[in-house]
Amino acid sequence: MTITRRLLVSMFVYAVVCGDTRIVSAQSVDLDPRIVTLVAAISEERLGAILRQLQSFETRSTLSSTTSKTRGIGAAREWILQEMRSYSPKLQVSFDTYQVPKQGRITRDIELRNVMAILPGRSARRIYISGHYDTVARAGGQSATNAGGAARDPDGPTPPPADPSAPLDNLAPGVNDDGSGTALTIELARVFSQSGIDFDATLVFMCHAGEEQGLVGARLHAQKAVAEKIPIEAVLNNDIVGNDKGGNGIIDGATIRVYSEGPEDSPSRELARFVQRWGGRYVPSHRVRPMARPDRFGRGGDHSAYNQLGFTAVGFRESRENFTRQHDVRDTFEGISLPYLAQNARVNAASAATLALAPPPPAVTNDRGQPQISRAPSGYDASLRWTASPGAVAYRIFWREAWGPDWQHEMAVGNVTNVILPNMQIDDYVFGVAAIDAQGHESFVTAYVTPPRASTPIRTGQ
Ligand SMILES: [Zn+2]
Repeated sequence: MTITRRLLVSMFVYAVVCGDTRIVSAQSVDLDPRIVTLVAAISEERLGAILRQLQSFETRSTLSSTTSKTRGIGAAREWILQEMRSYSPKLQVSFDTYQVPKQGRITRDIELRNVMAILPGRSARRIYISGHYDTVARAGGQSATNAGGAARDPDGPTPPPADPSAPLDNLAPGVNDDGSGTALTIELARVFSQSGIDFDATLVFMCHAGEEQGLVGARLHAQKAVAEKIPIEAVLNNDIVGNDKGGNGIIDGATIRVYSEGPEDSPSRELARFVQRWGGRYVPSHRVRPMARPDRFGRGGDHSAYNQLGFTAVGFRESRENFTRQHDVRDTFEGISLPYLAQNARVNAASAATLALAPPPPAVTNDRGQPQISRAPSGYDASLRWTASPGAVAYRIFWREAWGPDWQHEMAVGNVTNVILPNMQIDDYVFGVAAIDAQGHESFVTAYVTPPRASTPIRTGQ
């Protein structure tokens, strides 16, 4: 090693140590008391009242009638709109409306309306909390689907109308699927808009429609976000998060599953790790169980509609499902545990508030999409480089053995955009970096990953 090189390495090490010291003093407390207060404001009673109101519409099927003031999806969406409007003048509540001609499982031309509440932040980047307010019920429900047949169920709904252009108005209460995710979203719209916190990111509380016909409302909104270049940074989607008693009798009210698409260090996986880390810190009594797969077998949710168009999104799912209630007239208020739903709401709130206060996650690739990680300067070191995030005053680097899902090591560094870890072999570890603001709010991690390489065909002779 030359003298210049040795000097260079010690300078970087010095920068790392200095940064570390500074951050430790700035962060003697991990938790932000304002977020603690926000999380504590979530009300079981209000969640219950919202669920009872949603049940009162009898059906919220996307294909149901829109003319009644008390029954069907038209009445439901109007109530959700007015309810969120009542929370704060800061919330911009509107319908996100689309004319959808008959296609796929949309059996007639409809007007689809997501209900959207925007809490503007200092920047345009958006954090979404979502659920779907539409419902479905069919003969036998999800348990018949699981069993591989559509057994006739004495409690089953009336069959679809012979005339496909008529509204589908059979009873479909959908209190857990997905009244639970909808109530969670509405309640978080209230506590965030009334918190008095000045968030950096813009928060969006989104109640999707058309989920049961193939994630239609979420797909339409994600398509619009691509077309209009709306910077969606993260989507926390909640679908079936209110029941803690499995249909097999096993009860689990102390954990929540968070599904995320791969590959292993995709932004959605990092978002899931973030929810585990920060949701777990603010709500230590509830255990987040990240699932390294897009969703459950044969089941879908709105987060996938965002994933498929390149957005970072995860899906929250209760740990023990009761399939006999899903997509069934039995999906009623009696199947809900309000304490469990409230815990899931708290994990969402802590995660979204931390994300929305933190700087955006750093970019670690260059303009050719290559990760800025190298063995410089000695050829045997780990050199990590990233692009500064607006508002960041420091960064935290993470690493783990290149086998295994969870970060094993972390180190706060100062306001730098390059760190060198002498003698760390980059081939043996996964590395990532998160951005931190002056109060210690941390972004999710951006990992250094090798982009997939295209196969180059080899020509052969005649
Ligand atoms: Zn659902």
